[in-house]
Amino acid sequence: MTYKLSPWSLTDLFPGLDAPELESAFNDLETQVAGFEKLRPQLKADMLVSRFLEIVKDSEESTKLANKLYSFASLAFAADTQDQSILALLGRIQQFMAELENRTLFFSLWWKDLDDSNAKRMLDASGDYRYYLEEIRHFKPYTLSEPEEKVVNLKNVTGSSALITLYDAITNRYTFNLEVDGETKELTRGELMVYVRGADADLRAKAYQELYRVYGADGPILGQMYQTSARDWRNENLTLRRFASPIAARNLGNDIPDEAVDTLLAVCKKNAPIFQRYFRLKAKYLKMPRLRRYDIYAPLVKSDKTYAFDQAARIVFDSFNAFSPEVGKLARRVFDENHLDSEVRKGKQAGAFCASVTPEMTPWVKLNYQGHADDVATMAHELGHAIHSMLAAHHSVFTFHSSLPLAETASTFGEMMLVDRLLAEEKDESVRRDMLFRQVDDSYATIMRQTFFALFEKQAHEMVAQNASVEELSAAYLENLKEQFGDAVEVSDEFKWEWVSIPHIYHTPFYVYAYAFGQLLVLSLYQQYKAEGEAFKPRYIKILSAGGSQPPEKILAEAGIDIRSEKFWQGGFDVITQLVDELERMPV
Ligand SMILES: [Zn+2]
Repeated sequence: MTYKLSPWSLTDLFPGLDAPELESAFNDLETQVAGFEKLRPQLKADMLVSRFLEIVKDSEESTKLANKLYSFASLAFAADTQDQSILALLGRIQQFMAELENRTLFFSLWWKDLDDSNAKRMLDASGDYRYYLEEIRHFKPYTLSEPEEKVVNLKNVTGSSALITLYDAITNRYTFNLEVDGETKELTRGELMVYVRGADADLRAKAYQELYRVYGADGPILGQMYQTSARDWRNENLTLRRFASPIAARNLGNDIPDEAVDTLLAVCKKNAPIFQRYFRLKAKYLKMPRLRRYDIYAPLVKSDKTYAFDQAARIVFDSFNAFSPEVGKLARRVFDENHLDSEVRKGKQAGAFCASVTPEMTPWVKLNYQGHADDVATMAHELGHAIHSMLAAHHSVFTFHSSLPLAETASTFGEMMLVDRLLAEEKDESVRRDMLFRQVDDSYATIMRQTFFALFEKQAHEMVAQNASVEELSAAYLENLKEQFGDAVEVSDEFKWEWVSIPHIYHTPFYVYAYAFGQLLVLSLYQQYKAEGEAFKPRYIKILSAGGSQPPEKILAEAGIDIRSEKFWQGGFDVITQLVDELERMPV
């Protein structure tokens, strides 16, 4: 059979927006939660462990149903951000979930409050729920009283969550005009960004200028949304919950020690000169005295090579199969069950993601496939995510999702396997060289770029607390870029609006360091794979299969990795340095 570009089907969740099953799900969930509320008097320090575990099991069932409802609405929204009935459903579900969360809040509050010896009694018998239950207790020092927690939840629906939905709705309807071959085209952001990776230097510049013309026009408003959401983050996490810093709230959620994150960011910052060296080399190849920020993703060879969707799917399956046929089979499941939205449509959310709803269900993957080499890489990336969660499907709904810092392991590893496959098949030396350059481009984009976003977020959250204006934040962002690129890259003024165009820093503050974490980790794992071959595979599968059932530090320690050590992180950069050394030795 031939794989074709298509929207996904959400019928494995619900048959449609008007389906009676959707209403029944609301009702069932309501009934389950009402039943759960009745259990409240049974929660006692000396209760039977078996009773406690039954209650956890009940809440697992409700969580699955809630995940299905929520995913149905948010996936439908991603597929069409402009449909009013989807927006209405999403709003209804957000409201409904917040109310349910409030009604069931007593359980986690009781659990956090339970004395250590009784908690140990329950934990020792809790099997796969253990880490989930431990994680809840980690938040004990930062938890408010039940009525306060309820107010926070309810106010988030119309406050910070609504603000972010609004940010998405505003920015996803942007269109961009670009003159290509004498003809002005109206493009989505995804379509515009193709020109940034194109061979035409003038178009690269114009594409970026157009991107930031549009974002810049709304810059003051988008910036104000960011200020508001950063203030909300601080009000909640520092003023009310007493976290030590804005990033500490994310670190605890990731269960990564603050020191490990500090070490990661510091080592990354120290290694910025490697990429500056690389950009100087790239300028030579592009015959430019100095690279402009517009040019950092420029290809070395003028290649208009595109991959038909079916061809891309097969290359990606092959590269997974070469690692393990079992892994390849998992990737195919996403296609075969029609859980893939691959085509580009107006109103569809830009970018790509993988959503895992429950352990039993094959994940859903969103792409905006346009046939370029990057799109093939993105396909391998998102399918890597899907494989990760399918390998962890034997865990509970609470423990099958890996925590954020490990979340990019399989995706990045999948991309590297793809590149190896493409390199092995490519005979043309200049195309091979271009692919090696692209590998460093990608490392730049996932490690250095994301690190400097995280550094900016740290700074921006402090600046907002000091009442900085949007103008001042933009100036700080421009400084951040200049530090990142040194004198190796010329950064023009419109890049001061880049930060308002990064959805992650709005959606999930401080998420971005997980990319640097993941990529450096994978560089090191991939070295191990190349050195050890077959012997490495079970260790890797074990890391993925653990999902989120253990602390990330422990999962990695079992694979011989110490995330607190500077040396470990530097090891990832040593791989990149070798690659840049090799490229510098090649005759230009
Ligand atoms: Zn990813």
